[in-house]
Amino acid sequence: MPVFYYDAQVFKVFQVKQLLDDADIPCMVKNDFAQGAVGEIAPLDSAPEIWLLDEHWRVKAQQIVDDFMQDIESSLERGDWICGKCQTDNEASFGICWSCQSERA
Ligand SMILES: [Zn+2]
Repeated sequence: MPVFYYDAQVFKVFQVKQLLDDADIPCMVKNDFAQGAVGEIAPLDSAPEIWLLDEHWRVKAQQIVDDFMQDIESSLERGDWICGKCQTDNEASFGICWSCQSERA
């Protein structure tokens, strides 16, 4: 069973997981920091990965991820930005993060 989705930007992995959950696609997150036990693994290797529990769902899951990526791209085109501190999406017109008040990088 190969890994389905991986991104060094952890918030993306969890957003994809949420989308898959919403679509009732059985999947799990591995290397979840919340579970601890990172041990001697280098930080880069310990970013979470999403695994499908049933390969069956791959086409549908891929479609969901593609849509998600397109959303991200179109929001980048609008000039939306992601807070470097708390990873929250902010609209182009915001000069500071609406969530944590950090200045836009
Ligand atoms: Zn923020």
